[in-house]
Amino acid sequence: MLYLVPTPIGNLEDITLRAIRILKEVDVILAEDTRTSGNLLRHLGISKPMVAFHLNNEHQQVERIADRIEAGETMALVTDAGTPAISDPGFMLVRECVRREIRVECLPGPTAFVPALVNSGLPAERFIFEGFLPHKKGRQTKIQAIAEYPYTTILYESPFRLVKTLEQLMEVMGPDRQVSVARELTKVHEENVRGRIEDVIGYFGQKEVKGEIVIVISGKLKGEN
Ligand code: SAM
Repeated sequence: MLYLVPTPIGNLEDITLRAIRILKEVDVILAEDTRTSGNLLRHLGISKPMVAFHLNNEHQQVERIADRIEAGETMALVTDAGTPAISDPGFMLVRECVRREIRVECLPGPTAFVPALVNSGLPAERFIFEGFLPHKKGRQTKIQAIAEYPYTTILYESPFRLVKTLEQLMEVMGPDRQVSVARELTKVHEENVRGRIEDVIGYFGQKEVKGEIVIVISGKLKGEN
């Protein structure tokens, strides 16, 4: 069978007892980056055969890996951080396993968008997860669509593009839309900056932004232009 095992997004304490047990029990660990995951496994005292499984080889690997699981091996997929298949490799392998009726189990565990959403203080009963915005083609259309969503929207973003992306969002949504930027979740320098989009741009525009970022955007309110 195939397990998808979430790993910490910063704080190494954020791994479940079950995740550790499964990583110890499987035959092979598929890793987005064998060096990054090797460090985590060493920290956990686990030594296992690893196979590289990343966006660049996902296509070619899927069939081969599914064949091996069908032949009896149990595997766990981990990515560099968080939950596999969430803006990370994994979806194609899960789809292939489901197609072949191979048992698939995703363990619950760390992912960046849930704490970012909950910390934002914006409505969390319904939300849209968009992951990374396209860099070029389709970017403006996507931003215009997001501006119209009546639900809280979550984006992943790099620190280098944060201010530019907030400015592009403001151009379409106006300066008063509420946003929350979660930076370095679970790490020593975690911060959550909440407020009008214009004020949040003012805050981050003044300095070099570092670390990992999630942007949470309030949904369009009834009557808002
Ligand atoms: N699979 C991961 C998950 O479950 O969240 C996401 C992987 S995606 C390649 C990496 C992006 O997730 C980062 O660019 C950032 O937007 C977000 N992210 C990951 N760790 C984070 C953290 N500690 N704080 C804020 N955002 C984080």
